[in-house]
Amino acid sequence: MKAVLSNAPGQPFVLKDVPEPRPGKGEVRIKVTACGICHSDMFVRDGLFPGISYPRIPGHEVVGEVDQTGEGVRDFKKGDVVGVGWHGGHCFTCPACRAGDFILCSRAQITGISTDGGYAQYMLAPEDALARVPEGMDAAEAAPLLCAGVTTYNSLRHAGALPGDIVAVLGVGGLGHLGIQFSSKMGYRTVALSNGPSKADLARSLGAHDYIDMKAANAVEVLSRMGGAKVILATAPDSQTISQLVDGLGRNGKMVLLGADTRPLQVSPLQLIGQRKSISGWPSGDAMDSEETMKFARLTGIRAMVERFPLEKAEEAYQVMIQNKARFRVVLTL
Ligand SMILES: [Zn+2]
Ligand SMILES: [Zn+2]
Repeated sequence: MKAVLSNAPGQPFVLKDVPEPRPGKGEVRIKVTACGICHSDMFVRDGLFPGISYPRIPGHEVVGEVDQTGEGVRDFKKGDVVGVGWHGGHCFTCPACRAGDFILCSRAQITGISTDGGYAQYMLAPEDALARVPEGMDAAEAAPLLCAGVTTYNSLRHAGALPGDIVAVLGVGGLGHLGIQFSSKMGYRTVALSNGPSKADLARSLGAHDYIDMKAANAVEVLSRMGGAKVILATAPDSQTISQLVDGLGRNGKMVLLGADTRPLQVSPLQLIGQRKSISGWPSGDAMDSEETMKFARLTGIRAMVERFPLEKAEEAYQVMIQNKARFRVVLTL
């Protein structure tokens, strides 16, 4: 089969013919139809993930059709349209799994990092990592929902806001353009935050009720005048801006961190104590979370904006993504 491999850290991706994988016990083989390219694929590309081995096929936003089932597979069959995200399976016995919190499994497999992913014609996945893709959903548009989508949807639905509350979404990019849509469709007063006026129209067309150009206005003042945000969904990895925005939270407001940044936040306890504010992180979600993300998106008309590239152009597509030139998710199609 054709597959795109990362042979060593820092090397360009290469297209190669490799043997087709065969499903083991509890696994299915997926005939891939689309695979998103995510910023986290740089963990493979640059060798940044502890313990990763090479060669490795990246890709954790995978959509395709089950074409073979291994021994013991019970609930999925040949022909089922499925998706696999970052969460590529769990152990069922560690403390997190025993609590049903599979995404935090201490032995979690990560698709495209600990196992081969979806930059290929076929890939394997354990049955417990499969999400059903709603009928009629475009594969390339579904793919980003398995990472960017589930991360924004799942964090938001657990963030504690009620309909009508103010949810501010920092960043109108790969995560943010989905965060705005989910927030709006969930019934929150949605405020998009970005730098410059260029994304105002787009943000409004995605469902934002208000747009704050952080270059032209003081976002903390604007949010405070509105009554303060119940949730700020920080999709842009910008620790400095996030630190400043803490003062834009209202009573019991929560800053939810999604964009991975290694730089520290600078917030004093005093900024949080008085109004019982909090700052928390959120990982993506497990297979059921992904399935619910896609169902909600289908129900409410939420769509990822994607740029499509054929598998053969994975290297070029990766460059478009990593240089921040994509509007907004890059997807390989097969
Ligand atoms: Zn991802
Ligand atoms: Zn576990």
